[in-house]
Amino acid sequence: MFRESIKNMAAYRPGEQPLPGQRLIKLNTNENPYPPSPRVRRAVAKVMAGSALRLYPAPRADEFVDSAAKLYSIPQNMILAGNGSDELLAMVFRATLGEGDTVAYPVPTYSLYDTLALVQEARILHIPLGGDFALPLDALADARANLTIVCSPNSPSGTLTPARDLGVLAKRLDGRLLVIDEAYVDFAGDNALRLVRRHRNVVVLRTLSKSYSLAGMRLGLCFAHPSVIDALMKVKDSYNLSRVALAAGAEALRDAAWMRRNVAKVIRTRAHTEARLRKLGFEVPSSQANFVLARIRGRDMAPVARGLRRAGILVRHFATPLLQDALRISIGTPAEMNALFKALEPLARATPSKSKPRVRARAG
Ligand SMILES: *Cc1c(COP(=O)(O)O)cnc(C)c1O
Repeated sequence: MFRESIKNMAAYRPGEQPLPGQRLIKLNTNENPYPPSPRVRRAVAKVMAGSALRLYPAPRADEFVDSAAKLYSIPQNMILAGNGSDELLAMVFRATLGEGDTVAYPVPTYSLYDTLALVQEARILHIPLGGDFALPLDALADARANLTIVCSPNSPSGTLTPARDLGVLAKRLDGRLLVIDEAYVDFAGDNALRLVRRHRNVVVLRTLSKSYSLAGMRLGLCFAHPSVIDALMKVKDSYNLSRVALAAGAEALRDAAWMRRNVAKVIRTRAHTEARLRKLGFEVPSSQANFVLARIRGRDMAPVARGLRRAGILVRHFATPLLQDALRISIGTPAEMNALFKALEPLARATPSKSKPRVRARAG
C-alpha cells in the first residue's frame, strides 16, 4: 500500500504527552511552565463568539503576519505563517528535496529533520558537532548539500551558534538554502534574524510554542527573501492555520512584553538548575534555551529517566549512542524543579559512573 521508503522508515517519536487527568510534572518537551498572555484568551473568545468559524481562514494568515511584521520590523512579503514551525520545516523539505538530494545538519539535533528527509527519500549528511557543541562550519560548507539546517540554540545541547558564523556559512553555501531553526531563540542572548535581509538563501524559523506558551495552538513563523517565501507558498496547504490560531498568534505577538517576563523567569530558574545539576556531578553545557542537557559520561541515563517517571516526573532520554548518557530537562517553575531534584538526587547517587569509579573518602 505504501512507498518502500515509508515502509522502511521509523516514525518520529514525540515525547510522552500525559493523558487527561494524569498528574505528571512535565519536563520532557520544552513547553513553557507559565500561561500565555490573557489577551490571547480574549482574542480567541472573540472569534468563537461570532459566526466567523463558518468561513475559511485567511490563506496567507494576514492578521498574524501583520503582527509579526510590526514586532520584528520585517516586510510582510518576507514572512510565512505555519501550523507550528514543524509544518514550516515540512514545507521547506518538500520544496527543496527530491529523491537522492542531500540535506546536511550538525548532530545531535532535532530528530524530526531525519523523519522529514526520509519521507523525501533524501540523502542525509549528519555532521558531528565539535567539542562543546561548536558549529562544524567547514564540514557543513564543504558538504554543499541542497539543504543545510542549523538549529540554534540547538536541541538537545541548548548551545547557541553565533550569528556571525551563520552569516559566514550562508555565504559559503553559495546560493544553497540555509535554514536556521530558532525555536528557542527568545531564551538566548542573540539571534540571526538580521541575516534574512543580507542573504537570499537564509530562512529563519520561529515558533510560538515555547517562549509564547502556545504549544497547543500550533503557530510558527518563517522569515526569508520574498522569492523563497513565494516558493514555499506553493507547497503550503491552502488554509493551514485556523481562525482561532490566527487570532491567538496575532494577539500574542502584540503582547510580547508578557512573553519576555515569562522568559526572564525561566532564565533565572535555568541558572539555578544548571548550578544544582553540576553540584550533583552532571556536566551541563551552558544553555541558551528553556532546557538543559545533563550528562554523566559513560553512564546510561535510561534507568534514571525511568526512576524519575516512577516519581511522576517526565524528562527526555534519547536512546542513541551520542545521547544515552544524558538527560534533556525542560525548565519548569521553581517548585517543579525542586520536585525534580528531590527525586533526582538519590537516583543520581544510586549507581556510580562506569567511566569514573568514585573513591569514597569516608568509610561505611
Ligand atoms: C519545538 C521545536 C520545533 C517545533 O515547534 P512547533 O512550532 O511546536 O512545531 C521546531 N524545532 C525545534 C528545534 C523545536 O524544538
